[in-house]
Formats: sequence, structure tokens, C-alpha cells
Amino acid sequence: TTNEASLLGLGAMGAALARAAATKGRRLTVWNRTSAKAAPLVAAGVTVAASVAAAVAASPVVIVCVTDYAATRALLEAALLAGKTVVQLSTGTPQEARELAAWATARGARYLDGAILAVPSQVGGPHANLMTSGSREAFAAAEGVLAEMGAVRFVGEPPGAAAALDLAVLSSLFGALLGFYHGARLIEAEQMGVDGLGELMAATAPAIGEMIRIDAESIHHGRYEAPEASLEICWRSMDLLGRHAREAAIDGSFPGFAAEMFQRGITAGFGDEAPAAMIKVLRAASAQK
Ligand code: NDP
Repeated sequence: TTNEASLLGLGAMGAALARAAATKGRRLTVWNRTSAKAAPLVAAGVTVAASVAAAVAASPVVIVCVTDYAATRALLEAALLAGKTVVQLSTGTPQEARELAAWATARGARYLDGAILAVPSQVGGPHANLMTSGSREAFAAAEGVLAEMGAVRFVGEPPGAAAALDLAVLSSLFGALLGFYHGARLIEAEQMGVDGLGELMAATAPAIGEMIRIDAESIHHGRYEAPEASLEICWRSMDLLGRHAREAAIDGSFPGFAAEMFQRGITAGFGDEAPAAMIKVLRAASAQK
């Protein structure tokens, strides 16, 4: 029975998780609210349960991947969770993870919270990163099946840890994406091909990742002195980007926002420090609100 798992939720992500595990030989029981979505997976060898309760009863490990925590809670209400390992892979906040952990634990389950850093087409391959946190015993029980879905890691016992890292990665990613969209508009306005920018960014990505790692070290150790490039230089770059937007008569929202943020760092007296000193501006702001 250790080779068995159940999966609730066969949306874009749930279906990809199910397919990855089933094609690697996992005995999987699935359930989805809209039952027709299970049909294409039957050929991959999954068993379809008629109810949530039946799906939960079928396996020691129960993985959930639906829209959100409210939907997860509504589904699990209908099942007997005692003795089960519940793995929640739907996206949410650390607080939601803590609440569901307490709720599931009170019903006798071991709880593992997880976050998927991948799009469905990457699931099952080396680029799908899966972070988990919560009960170590739950991790030990679920690691095998989760490893079939992606590169899985346990990031700590606080149940909210995986969700916190997930949200922090989303913030980093979407911040970069918004900057990229402005960059793409800038390139278009110069009558150049955006494909060239894509290739350049892919080539530069490891260096950017390294800059972020160094910034994270600075913040972790609280060291912002003698930077290679100062916070003021960052402001200058964003101010230049704003000047270009005006010259080229393109939307200036992104450079306006970025310049304003760095300007706050300069106003607070951190112009000569590393750009990571921006964390001190954000700390001061959260204390006020
Ligand atoms: P979809 O919208 O494709 O699927 C949503 C799933 O949730 C469906 O199975 C749906 O059932 C089910 N569902 C929603 N509400 C309820 C409910 N009240 N009761 C029962 N079932 C419900 O979303 P995804 O599969 O893309 O996403 C699922 C989770 O995975 C989300 O939390 C998302 O943030 C996360 N995720 C998704 C990624 C992606 O790229 N797609 C990337 C990383 C994480 P039904 O089929 O009946 O509608």
C-alpha cells in the first residue's frame, strides 16, 4: 500500500501531477468535481473514485490540488482523515497553511503543505520545483510520490514555510516580468525585435540569479556598506528609463514606480549603500502601517 496515493483535483495542474505519477507506475486514485476531467487519465492507468470520501479512503497519502484553501477544506470535510497523510498543493498564504495544518491535525491526519514552482507542462521534469513544509513524518510518507511530480524539497517544519517561499518567489518573478514588459515595449518603440531581448535575458538569467543571491546574503547579514553598485545608481538607471519613456512617448508606469521606490531609499539616507538597503525602507513602512 506504500505505493498508493490519492489525488483530489484534476484542473490544469492536478491533471499534470496525476499524469506524471501514473506514467511513472504509481498506483493512483483520483477524484475531480467535474468527473469528465478524469476520463483522459484512465488510459494512463489511474483509478477514478466516485466520491471524495472514497478517494481519501483508498490511499494512505492524499494529495489535494484545487483552486484554493477554502475549496480544499470544503472537500476534506466530507472525508475521514484519521491516520492519513494530507498533502495540500493548492496555492495560498502562510496563514492559510497554518490554519489547515491545525484543522487536519485535529482530525488525526499528518499534514504537509506544498507549493509548486512550475507550469503544468514542466511537471514530472527537472524544472518543476516542489517545496514542502510541515510534518516530517508526512514528508517521509509522501516524498516518493511527490518526487515523481518534480524536484521536491522539505523547507521546514513551520507549515507556512513553503507558502511563504512560494509567495516570495512569485513576488520576485512578477516584479521581473513587469520590468520585462516595459523592456519589451521599449524595444518595440525602437523598432527592434522582442525575440532578441528574450534571448539576451535567457543568457543573462544566471548572472541575475547570482545578483539576487548576493542581495539576499546582504539582507540576511544586515551588511550594506561598500557596494559595487549603490542604491543611488539604481535610482539613476530607473530615472533614465523614465526619461527614455518620455522621449519615446511610451507608457512610463514601470520606471515611475521603480524610480519612486529607489528615491525613498535615497531620502532615507541609503544612497551610498547596496540596493539591498531597500529592505530597511520596507521595514520602516510596515512599522508605520
Ligand atoms: P484550474 O482552474 O485548472 O483547476 C481548478 C481545480 O480546482 C479543478 O479541479 C476544479 O474542479 C477544482 N475546484 C475548484 N473549486 C472547487 C470546489 N469548491 N470544490 C471542488 N473542486 C474545486 O487550476 P490549476 O489546476 O491550474 O491550479 C490548481 C492549484 O495549483 C491552484 O492553487 C494554483 O495556484 C496551483 N498552481 C497552478 C499552476 C499553474 O501553472 N496552473 C502553477 C503553480 C501552482 P472542476 O474541474 O470541477 O472545476
